Amino acid sequence: MEKVKQLKVKYVNKGIANFFGNYVEINIALKGNKKLRDYIIKHELGHSEKFDLLHEFKIDWKIIPSLIWFILKHPSTWRDFSPIQFRDKKIIYDLNLSILYAILISLIILAILFFKLIY
Ligand SMILES: [Zn+2]
Repeated sequence: MEKVKQLKVKYVNKGIANFFGNYVEINIALKGNKKLRDYIIKHELGHSEKFDLLHEFKIDWKIIPSLIWFILKHPSTWRDFSPIQFRDKKIIYDLNLSILYAILISLIILAILFFKLIY
């Protein structure tokens, strides 16, 4: 993919990767793993600009198998699983992740209520 080569990459020591329109932030631990790095950059480019929960969820779900060991080995990447991040004194929030967590928490509460009803 030609776009992958043209994109400016900024190495950071936290998170996995984040796309900011004209550059991508990527964890420094990925610097030595060109194959995985390029795969992640390609993935980041696949995120749509507009809000589409199903699309975002589908492409993030697809990349998990290739990333799982990297994520487990590098706790510095775990920040990207927080729906709210503090950066340069600014609060950045991820609407997709927030909705996903809200859905998960609702399902857990519903499951608890359901089991309380039966037993
Ligand atoms: Zn993603």
